[in-house]
Amino acid sequence: MVKPAYEQARRTWLCTGCAFPKADTKEVDATIQEEKPDNTPLNMISGCGVGIARKDFLFSFGEDLVRQHLYLGQVFAPDKRPLESWVTFVGRHRIIVRGSKNAGVRRCAECGRNAYFAMGQLYLYPLPPEGVSIFDAGNGVLVVTEQLVRQLNLNAWRKLDCTRLFVPDYPEDGLVELKAM
Ligand SMILES: [Zn+2]
Repeated sequence: MVKPAYEQARRTWLCTGCAFPKADTKEVDATIQEEKPDNTPLNMISGCGVGIARKDFLFSFGEDLVRQHLYLGQVFAPDKRPLESWVTFVGRHRIIVRGSKNAGVRRCAECGRNAYFAMGQLYLYPLPPEGVSIFDAGNGVLVVTEQLVRQLNLNAWRKLDCTRLFVPDYPEDGLVELKAM
């Protein structure tokens, strides 16, 4: 983000303790430093945890469904021109993608968020709530149901990284149940 936008964010929706959107964050507009983002379907705005997406990619899940699950905001170029092909997104349902190795968690003293890091095999624990088909895993990562992935033509999106996540019987990182917020 450009500096004034970043400073504005720090005064409002951005937690200064962990550089992530606060729990009650909804739509976020962002003025970015580039003329346009890299041509990847999903990306992130560095330093604030917010994802950005190409609209045509995101809405291939169904625009109504996406708007039910994600708060969408506008992306602007440095000259304040709106970049109509892009949106920012903040999930109504956040989730932690966990890993099997080198896991660590730090609770943010300001907003209470569990900031989690791990490597190795990625998984979800516990089983995510039913009835939610799109979760925000932070930093431009979405967790969606297998049914939604089947709706996508994965080959149509260059630089899209899609990983199948398992739900083991017990967490493999030695940690307990962790809430994203
Ligand atoms: Zn925080």
